[in-house]
Amino acid sequence: MLVETKALSDDLPAANTRLAPGLYLVATPIGNLEDISLRALRVMRSADRIACEDTRQTGKLLTHYGITTPTVSYHLHNERGRAEELVAQLREGARIAVVSDAGTPGIADPGEAIVRAAVEAGIPVFAIPGANAVLTALAASGLSAERFAFRGFLPSKAGERRSALEQALAETRTAAISATQIFYETPHRITEALADVAAVFGPAHPIVLARELTKLHEEFLRGTVAEVQAILAARDTVRGEMVLLLSGDVAAEAAATQTLATAVRARMAAGDDEKDALKHVARERGMGKSEAYREWQRTRGKA
Ligand code: SAM
Repeated sequence: MLVETKALSDDLPAANTRLAPGLYLVATPIGNLEDISLRALRVMRSADRIACEDTRQTGKLLTHYGITTPTVSYHLHNERGRAEELVAQLREGARIAVVSDAGTPGIADPGEAIVRAAVEAGIPVFAIPGANAVLTALAASGLSAERFAFRGFLPSKAGERRSALEQALAETRTAAISATQIFYETPHRITEALADVAAVFGPAHPIVLARELTKLHEEFLRGTVAEVQAILAARDTVRGEMVLLLSGDVAAEAAATQTLATAVRARMAAGDDEKDALKHVARERGMGKSEAYREWQRTRGKA
């Protein structure tokens, strides 16, 4: 279905006029409360209601800016049902703002379902741009921003995480122009995630870990995987929100990096039986026998 939407500029109300009816996706700060646009504040102030991922979390922002617009919850668990309700109100001419806890709604956050429902209902959708962790991290990373692939959160299960990284590597290798690979990650999984990045991309691969963006303890850890691993290992705890960026430049590194399956197959081709080949490769990589066995089972059929 082709739906025409009006040019945004036609709908842009002057500062003191009423908002045009429709759905407003409003980006909010990812840390520093100053990172919000004048327009975002005006939209939240003038909307009929604000649909929030967490009304208490957004309440802090609204209190900070003296905004008293009524709020309603809109999160992953009630997204579909609430989208229907909100669209019914939008059909009657409501002005509804949608915000997530931080950053841009719809980017690894609720938002997509309501946008889709509004678009299908022919309701105007306005994006009010602002903070986003991916772009903030990329802009200051020092890695190429010419092309990048945002891949959301790395999976929490080890096997799935390795597969996601292997897919990222494979796509990067075959792309005409390599893309910086970007993931969201959590502090309690970052150590395991970096071990997997080292296994798939190689310990010398350039990466950036962007932590606590726009906040008091913001930092960019730039270096090889092994260097960033060493920095984190030297700390008592690893805290904070983080974005993991992997250089898309895999040409040299990829040649030097062999997957476990390739290494096992190479030894078998050279005469080892499967058990000996696996034992040898596990020892070489500092892996436990059962971990290596699981990895072999998972990847043996792959190229
Ligand atoms: N919608 C948000 C956006 O536009 O960036 C992302 C929401 S997602 C549920 C939350 C994840 O984003 C965090 O786990 C972290 O990976 C990343 N993130 C959010 N704020 C961040 C910050 N200040 N510094 C680093 N990473 C951040």
